[in-house]
Amino acid sequence: AEAKRSGRSHAVYTVKIDQTYASRLALMGDLRQAIEKNELSLYCQPKVHVESSRLCGAEALVRWPHPERGILSTGQFIELAEHSGLITPLTHWVLESAFRHRYAWQAKGVTQPLSVNLSAHDLRDPALVGWIEGLMSTWGAEPDWIEFELTESALMQDPVRAVSTLGRLKQLGSRLFVDDFGIGHSSLSYLQKLPVDALKIDQSFVAPITEDRSSAAIVRLAVGLGHDLGLEVVAEGVENRAQWDRLAELGCDVIQGYYVGNPMPADQYGCWQQSSPWREPSVRTPG
Ligand code: C2E
Ligand code: MG
Ligand code: MG
Ligand code: MG
Repeated sequence: AEAKRSGRSHAVYTVKIDQTYASRLALMGDLRQAIEKNELSLYCQPKVHVESSRLCGAEALVRWPHPERGILSTGQFIELAEHSGLITPLTHWVLESAFRHRYAWQAKGVTQPLSVNLSAHDLRDPALVGWIEGLMSTWGAEPDWIEFELTESALMQDPVRAVSTLGRLKQLGSRLFVDDFGIGHSSLSYLQKLPVDALKIDQSFVAPITEDRSSAAIVRLAVGLGHDLGLEVVAEGVENRAQWDRLAELGCDVIQGYYVGNPMPADQYGCWQQSSPWREPSVRTPG
């Protein structure tokens, strides 16, 4: 009976693996089609400058409204894309969409930059920078239209290559962000070598900031490090005023999160910002 039971459980286990594999495979097929059929959509979320309380940019976040599964968690399908070779077409879709939307904003008088998330795989793609350069010339884009966010862990997967790819992006004039800072085991010596402009402190330090003294200590450290390296410091995942106040006290320069605004379809951003309390200044102050 023992052998039979373990035999059966082994069979169940195998079936379970097959189902997971099959469902991942099915999901990959769906994602490939969604990219080809242009069924993804680009959302964007505002960022606000702490000192002025004015909008200073937005982040592009891809959404996949799956016909049967509903809106899937972005983190999950990005990971799937990275492990299935779909990340390159996905990144191309996101970049094209970001440039198209940013071009449309220009006509509506929105002058803020839009930032695009790049993955570890993108950093290893020798064609990436040329692709971006092509889009810049197609859309007649200024270098400050589109910025790039790279997670600390993606940068640390291959720091030597990261330094070189970031250097080429920097030559195009783009601003660069280290995303999810604090959870990616940065080597501080590489951080110093990376030609980046800003750090985004990971939300896991922001969420407990008003209650947890150790999170506040980490944020204070990240702000100090960022400022000493000449970088702007952004806090993401800010959901309420108390968190804003504490982060402002700790010296964060820019705030992003539900407190400022939820991610929204990119074509609604122009309208939203006109009636938002965080209106963009009509005349930009230099610096
Ligand atoms: P991320 O770049 O760190 O983006 C921030 C995530 O936090 C987004 O999740 C956003 O919706 C969520 N968020 C924003 N404000 C708040 C808040 O106040 N509270 C909480 N709890 N969450 C907030 P999302 O859109 O699900 O994206 C997850 C991750 O997937 C992103 O993290 C990014 O790493 C990746 N991702 C999203 N879009 C793209 C893309 O187009 N390309 C690549 N390569 N990665 C992407
Ligand atoms: Mg990001
Ligand atoms: Mg982040
Ligand atoms: Mg994140």
